[in-house]
Amino acid sequence: MGRIAYVNGRFVPKRDAMVHIEDRGYQLADAVYEVWALFDGLLADPEGHFARLERSLAELRISMPMSRRALTLVLKEAVRRNRVREGLVYLQVSRGVATRDHAFPTTPVAPSVVITVSRVDRAATEARAAKGVGVVTTPENRWGRCDIKTVGLLPNALAKQKAREAGAVEAWFIDDLGLVTEGASSNAWIVDQDGTLRTRDTNANILRGVTRLSLLDVAREAGLKVEERPFTPDEALKAKEAFITGAGSLVLPVVSVDGKPVGDGAPGPVAMRLRRLYIERAKATAI
Ligand code: PLP
Repeated sequence: MGRIAYVNGRFVPKRDAMVHIEDRGYQLADAVYEVWALFDGLLADPEGHFARLERSLAELRISMPMSRRALTLVLKEAVRRNRVREGLVYLQVSRGVATRDHAFPTTPVAPSVVITVSRVDRAATEARAAKGVGVVTTPENRWGRCDIKTVGLLPNALAKQKAREAGAVEAWFIDDLGLVTEGASSNAWIVDQDGTLRTRDTNANILRGVTRLSLLDVAREAGLKVEERPFTPDEALKAKEAFITGAGSLVLPVVSVDGKPVGDGAPGPVAMRLRRLYIERAKATAI
């Protein structure tokens, strides 16, 4: 973990990094966040993450705390000060500090901004991808605006804990129609028996994953057939392959669902190829 955090205009040692007890992010989850993967010290998929940050903030009527250009400089300075080359950058922006009241503050408050940087062991994550991971299913119980990347993640945290207790790495939410929406911190994909890539469409109540969006491009460029169409856990079990995407997982093969094997129970060639192609592209376009 990096040792230096950015809090409201200052770089401080993490042990001294504090937010106010009446920060609305802390009390009401009135805050949004973004996570960038870092490759060789550079931010992956910059455009997608900045665009989604601006959208999340606009949906909640929180102002962008600084220009995109200034924010890029601060993020990069946080990376530099932590001397992290391979890792993740976390940004959180809350509506700010105000006496507790559900409705917005009546006088203007400045958004609170926090940035942390953490290291990722790429060799370990490659080894994990080569083995594949298990997922468990869990009923969809989140609010109706999962397209906004808010810090209100309690259902996701509980789902992830369920996965961990089952020896799995991710939980897939299943909606009332029996369809997979997405993972607790990733988007869900299969390669069906026709070789078509399938992932849930963004009219559904899911986060519009930046990795998902980039991978749609990568897959089409690679000549694969892609459909933004839902699938059931049973279809995942009958599929050739399954995988998840996210800034943390990148492209990670899924080899079991609720303890039952997907395909032959090993990472598939399509997922492994897409992982390689995605990482190549992310490195080439990182800033
Ligand atoms: N879905 C959820 C619920 C997430 O929390 C995340 C990432 O944190 C994703 C999908 C993947 O999004 P991205 O590819 O932008 O990291």
